[in-house]
Amino acid sequence: MTDVRLMVKAPAKINLTLDVLYKRPDGYHEIEMVMTTIDLADRLTIEPRRENKITLDCSACYLPLDERNHVYQAAKLVKERFHVDEGVHIYIDKQIPIAAGLAGGSSDAAAAIRGLNKLWDLNMSVEEMAELGSHIGSDVSFCVYGGTAVARGRGERIERLPSPPSCWVILAKPPIGVSTAEVYGALRMDRLTERGKSQQMIEAIWHRDFPGICRSLGNHLESVTLVKYPDVCVIKDRMSRFGADGVLMSGSGPTVFALTDKESRVNRIYNGLRGFCKEVYVVRLAGENQW
Ligand code: ATP
Repeated sequence: MTDVRLMVKAPAKINLTLDVLYKRPDGYHEIEMVMTTIDLADRLTIEPRRENKITLDCSACYLPLDERNHVYQAAKLVKERFHVDEGVHIYIDKQIPIAAGLAGGSSDAAAAIRGLNKLWDLNMSVEEMAELGSHIGSDVSFCVYGGTAVARGRGERIERLPSPPSCWVILAKPPIGVSTAEVYGALRMDRLTERGKSQQMIEAIWHRDFPGICRSLGNHLESVTLVKYPDVCVIKDRMSRFGADGVLMSGSGPTVFALTDKESRVNRIYNGLRGFCKEVYVVRLAGENQW
């Protein structure tokens, strides 16, 4: 048994786009979405243990520490796939809000796969790790790569993109947890009025066109979450009023983010939200390689 302790970063992501293309015969939705990682991250500490068991501990006491945790599922999958007869203990220092549309659980699972690949000398390629991760959740493949990418299918087919120009990201999470499955379940494809924005977004990113990126923000799931939770709409309006260059809900919500490349506007937007929403974060896009 190796006597090492690995620290692995698990960054959150935001959706710059989320287009729902159609409902597939298998019941899932075919999606196309552009995602990018931000510098808000959980931290995993991974240590070998003598007993052949997977154990977890976490700074957020309300998260399950058993098979329901995505990190446990990731460790079990890696162990089984490679017939590893060693145990592991993983501590999750949780910084990413939970059930927020920021892929916290998926990113933890991806970080566990990357960490165990090192700890157990498994030599998996990034593609192999992403494939393995897709069995846990559709955002895990993206989180294995990190950076900026377009995800297709259920989210498991990844095409990497260059980093968008750096900017500030002001995140606001209203005090509600949103279930991704419920949002997709309530989605009415016949009521979608906006065309998908992903192609336009990909072009803006390749051209490093920040105003173009802000114009290309779009998320079809807003049609469900904004109606069910009007506070999310109010936050979006406030962000725009206080000077955001672009505003969007991430994933299935309820977190909303504002983008701006002007430092002078960051405080205005932040202060404009403080009285209204308790959980507000100022971060930056993470850029190329953050783990
Ligand atoms: P995604 O975009 O991946 O769906 P999300 O931000 O909408 O992410 P998560 O924070 O990943 O949502 O949480 C979704 C559910 O997953 C929660 O109900 C939570 O109990 C469960 N979960 C399991 N493991 C974890 C983990 N390590 N961190 C956060 N949530 C977890």
